[in-house]
Amino acid sequence: MPRSTELSSSALHAHFATVMQQIQDAAKAANRDPDSIALLAVSKTKPASAIAELYRAGQRQFGENYVQEAIEKIQELQAHDDIVWHFIGPLQSNKTKDVAEHFAWVHSIDREKLVRRLANQRPKTLGPLNVLIQVNIDDEASKAGVNLTEIPELAASIASAEQLKLRGIMAIPNPDASAEQQKQSFAELQKAYKELQEQHPDVDTLSLGMSNDLQLAIAHGSTMVRIGTALFGAREK
Ligand SMILES: *Cc1c(COP(=O)(O)O)cnc(C)c1O
Repeated sequence: MPRSTELSSSALHAHFATVMQQIQDAAKAANRDPDSIALLAVSKTKPASAIAELYRAGQRQFGENYVQEAIEKIQELQAHDDIVWHFIGPLQSNKTKDVAEHFAWVHSIDREKLVRRLANQRPKTLGPLNVLIQVNIDDEASKAGVNLTEIPELAASIASAEQLKLRGIMAIPNPDASAEQQKQSFAELQKAYKELQEQHPDVDTLSLGMSNDLQLAIAHGSTMVRIGTALFGAREK
């Protein structure tokens, strides 16, 4: 299988500066403090060397989608012990133990079974696992994520699980929807996030926005944008 196109270190640093600037500009346009928006660098399919390069530029939070691939990179980068690893891909229940043992955050919780397993499998020595409820906002056939109406029950379950900390909501709005439909989806997510905060005041994270919809996400209250392509270049798989 061909390796993903690898960028030179100067290109990576330039992309990083551009994305940071885009976040600043979008925050300003939305009348928001840029420091209230975290950048999660999505490094799936990219080599550990590219992660190390962004680390040198100052990036600390990285997101991965595939458990086995991620664990190899986490081990390779063990010396960079202040990297915060986020699992953002679809989670199969037979992989929860690996995720509970190697990650600080999980963005893709969409069923009770995952809550139970992660809570049991999270090593006490690591402290609570930060979790986000994945919301399927456009009712897509992809199935991942809960409907808006299912958020309260799953949230209550997470909030009562000792080794888990409920931090908020994650969503991947349909990129092919019309501009109008996109706006509506982002607005619904922003509303759901506020309602969740009313029930759970510790909730502080709306994980929303990718390379192509970062501005719209920040305009709708995103506190964490997940950026892959704009940082690392296109993926080949
Ligand atoms: C791959 C991925 C991203 C990054 O997408 P880009 O369009 O490359 O920025 C963000 N979030 C999730 C859940 C992903 O799987």
